[in-house]
Amino acid sequence: MSFTNELLNTVLRHAGQEVSRKEFLNLAGRGLAVGVAAGTLASCQSDGPAKATAAATPTTGTPASEVDASTIYTAPSGQQVPSSEAVSPPAKVPAGLDKPIELEAWKSDVDPKSGPVPTPLPPDKRVGYALVGLGHLTLEELLPAFGECKKSKPVALVSGSPEKLKKVAQQYGIKPESCYSYQDYEKLKDNPDVQAIYIVLPNSLHAEYVIRGAKTGKHILCEKPMANSAKECELMIAACKQANVKLMVAYRIQYEPYNRQVRDMIRDAKFGKVKYIQAQNSQSSANPDHWRHKKDLAGGGALPDIGLYCLNTSRFLLGTEPTEVFAHSYSTPGNPLFKEVEEMMTFQLRFPGGIVVDSITHYNTHDSRYYRVNTERGWLHLDNAYAYTGQQLKTSHAEGEAKMQNQITIPAKNQFAAEMDHFSECILENKQPHTPGEEGLQDHRIMDAIYQSARENRPVKLPEVKGTDVFRGPEPKQA
Ligand code: NAD
Repeated sequence: MSFTNELLNTVLRHAGQEVSRKEFLNLAGRGLAVGVAAGTLASCQSDGPAKATAAATPTTGTPASEVDASTIYTAPSGQQVPSSEAVSPPAKVPAGLDKPIELEAWKSDVDPKSGPVPTPLPPDKRVGYALVGLGHLTLEELLPAFGECKKSKPVALVSGSPEKLKKVAQQYGIKPESCYSYQDYEKLKDNPDVQAIYIVLPNSLHAEYVIRGAKTGKHILCEKPMANSAKECELMIAACKQANVKLMVAYRIQYEPYNRQVRDMIRDAKFGKVKYIQAQNSQSSANPDHWRHKKDLAGGGALPDIGLYCLNTSRFLLGTEPTEVFAHSYSTPGNPLFKEVEEMMTFQLRFPGGIVVDSITHYNTHDSRYYRVNTERGWLHLDNAYAYTGQQLKTSHAEGEAKMQNQITIPAKNQFAAEMDHFSECILENKQPHTPGEEGLQDHRIMDAIYQSARENRPVKLPEVKGTDVFRGPEPKQA
């Protein structure tokens, strides 16, 4: 009988009873990894010694003499055995919280790599946010997304509803004294936990709350659309500049990995030059009393709410700015939802180099959110492009006689978390946001022209903007 088999048999002899710490350590110390006893005992009995020998290869890491073998558990067969040896395989643990731990590799290059180990900041180092407005977006997306943030945390709430404030504060561990009414909004100034204010109110209130918020000295993240007009955007930018605080518009798509992937492929001319983009963002709305259907509160209908994604994302993908727009809008007569705001807007954007972007946005069709970028030698199609999740990227190009159609899958990330962490990064590192107020202002200038074109039923020229990404700040770091 070989040495290993002798050891194995010793384990098996003890299998029906508790193995003492001393006996266990004796076995482990003689090179028999305790994993044999824990995980493979029952199968060892039937599979024979050869298999058991392979499983008994000693592991590296914590020496057996340091193992606390007092833990006993019941194996599926009912036998009581000590737990497996806990060991730490080789890992690089660099100094600095922002440097990821590098774990022992085990996957080949054949499969996609897993991303680096996350490097969250300790909670006391994260940027504290006050969320203003506790509606759908805040409760359904933003507060849950903080759970995936590495640099951001919710620390204060502003709402007109004391009941909501109390409940949400309890749910997310926010101090009762950090809950404010709209009237008390300015008191955020005296809350040292708050470094950033996130405005998530109806569109018409964005300008007022950004301007009042800037005066508290806190940095401002504002939901899209930035405001109700280009004029309001200019006032918001000026107020933040004057108060020396950062202003970012929450264009989540510019932080979403699939949209960023398409942008990179386009900019690298993967399938040649872009010629034409077709974009749609449509959904079905109800409740004529909701602020989204009131012109004063929403500024418009489908265009500023969801059509804006077609506009902003096209500009983001191409990097250049449109020189002309031609639009047409429609609202079904007598439909109370669309008495004040447009039901549908279709708009064509003409970009330098003859590139055309054809967009349609609708408030009265089934959910559909996609774009297709048509290039000289292929196309890239992103389904659910503007949705919170579920992006699907397909490409097509020719190789010889074959038409290659690929589906590209990349790791999904919570785009709200990525967006908030980018803003936190800008605050912590004193950087200009990737989507600053100027990016929002440019969209409003174009939307103003789109409305004018639809009203006057003619193309409207836009001021020429030279260069690429001129309204954007530095690229976000990969979260
Ligand atoms: P919502 O109606 O669900 O919430 C709005 C909140 O504002 C509510 O809590 C409401 O009580 C409060 N409020 C304060 N004053 C109000 C007033 N005078 N009238 C009505 N409500 C008032 O809206 P939402 O869907 O959360 O949208 C809020 C903002 O976020 C909008 O600007 C919207 O465009 C934007 N948004 C962005 C995304 C995105 O993906 N980035 C998604 C949805 C909404």
